Amino acid sequence: MTDISTPIVRFAPSPTGRLHVGNIRTALFNKLFALKHGGNFVLRMDDTDTERSTSEFAKGIEEDLLWLGVTWDRMERQSDRTELYDAAASKLREAGLLYACYETADELDRRRKRQMARGLPPVYDRAALKLTDEERAAFEAEGRTAHWRFLLPNHSGDPFETKRTEVHFPDLMRGDQTVDLASMSDPVLVRGDGTYLYTLPSVVDDLDMGVTHVIRGADHIANTGVQIAVMEALGGNAPTFGHHNLLQDASGEGLSKRKGALSIASLRESGLEPMAVASVAALTGTSADVEALSSLTALADVFDPSTVSKSNSRFEPREISALNEQILHQMPYADAQPRLQALGCDEGHVFWETVRANMTVLNDVSDWVPIIREGFDGAIIDDDDRDFLITAAKALPAAPWGDDVWKEWTTALKQETGRKGRGLFMPLRKVLTGLEHGPELAPLLSLIGREETLRRLP
Ligand code: GLU
Repeated sequence: MTDISTPIVRFAPSPTGRLHVGNIRTALFNKLFALKHGGNFVLRMDDTDTERSTSEFAKGIEEDLLWLGVTWDRMERQSDRTELYDAAASKLREAGLLYACYETADELDRRRKRQMARGLPPVYDRAALKLTDEERAAFEAEGRTAHWRFLLPNHSGDPFETKRTEVHFPDLMRGDQTVDLASMSDPVLVRGDGTYLYTLPSVVDDLDMGVTHVIRGADHIANTGVQIAVMEALGGNAPTFGHHNLLQDASGEGLSKRKGALSIASLRESGLEPMAVASVAALTGTSADVEALSSLTALADVFDPSTVSKSNSRFEPREISALNEQILHQMPYADAQPRLQALGCDEGHVFWETVRANMTVLNDVSDWVPIIREGFDGAIIDDDDRDFLITAAKALPAAPWGDDVWKEWTTALKQETGRKGRGLFMPLRKVLTGLEHGPELAPLLSLIGREETLRRLP
C-alpha cells in the first residue's frame, strides 16, 4: 500500500519519436518534484496510438531517461490496460455521458467552416445527440462505425443550452487557473475503430495509479479543464496540476519532434554530459541561474515549481555546451578515470588535470593524448625561431627532472636569449604541441619527458 502522504507523479510520453529537450523538461520537473518530496515516479508509455507508437521508440525513451538519471518506481504501458478504459467507457455510457457520433472528418470540417463564416466559435453542435435509433441504425448499415464523445457538463439539463461553466484549479506553477467548458467541443474519447484517444486513458490511469500531482507542459491547460470533468464523471478526485512554460527555439517556435528538435540521443552521442543537458532543460525559464549542477538531487534542491516563469522561454543549445565545459573543467580524475580508460586515454591525474580545461566534450581528451606520447609529429618550427630552439635544446635541464623543470628551463632561456613573454613561450608551445593554444606547458613538459622533448626540438 502506498502511504497516502507520498506524492505520486508520472511522466507520460507517447512513444512516437525520440525525446527532445522540451520533453525531458517535463520528465525532470516530475522527477525533481518526487526527489524533493520523497515521492514516487511512474513512467507511463501513452501508446494508445498504435499506428505511430513503436517499441523501439519506447526503448529509446527508457534509455534517454536512464542516461539522465531519471529512474522510475513503476512503469506501465497503456496498451496493456485497455480493460480499464473499456470499463470506464461503459460507466460513462451508462450515465449517458458518452454518446455515439457518426460524422466523418470531412463533414465536421465543413460544419466548422460554416460556423466560422457566420462568426460562431467552431464548437461541435452535439447534432449526434438528436439522432434517433433508426438514424443510428442507418449509419451502421451504411458501414459507418460510431466514435464517442464525452458530454461536457456545461449545461443545466438541456445540452443544447450551454452556459458558462468555469473549472477552477490551483496550478503549482501558474497560480489559480480557470477554464470555461462552454467554449469547448465535447471531446472524442473513443475513435471509430474502438481505440482510445489520449484523454480517457490518461484520466483513468491518473486515478487508478493514485497520481497526486500531474506536472506537464502549458499546452495541456485546456485539456486539464476537460480531464477534471471526466474525472468527476468517473467519481474520482482530481489531482493537483502544474503546467510549466514551454521552451522555444531561436525563431520562437516550440520544440517538437516534427521540426527536428535536438534529440537527447543526439546530445548524448555528441558526447555531452547528462547533467549539462539536465541542468539546462530544468533551469531555463526559472528564476534560478542556469548553471551546471552535479546531480539530480542537487538540481532538486534548487528547483521550485513556483519560480517557473509563466511565459515561454528561449532554449539555446549552446548553453548546454557552456555548462558541459564547466562540468569537465571541475571533474575530478577519479570520476573521469573509468571513461578515460575506456577511451584508451588514461594518462594519470596530472594529464587529466592539465588538459580538462581545454575540452568541450570528454572525448576531446583524445586530441591531447598524442601530444604527450612518443610518435608525435606535429612540431612547428618557424625559420625565425630555429636558432632560439637550438639554444633551447642545449639549455634543456639534465635528467632527472624535478617539479620545477619548466621554470628552470625558461628562466635560463630568458637570460641567454633575452626573449620573454610570447616570443619566448610561443615557439616552445608550437614545437612541443604543434598548436598555438592549449593546456599549460609546465605540466605538459614533464609529461612529454626529456628524451621526447629533445626529439621535437631542432
Ligand atoms: N502523452 C501525453 C503527451 O505526450 C501526455 C500528456 C500528459 O502528461 O498528460 O503529451
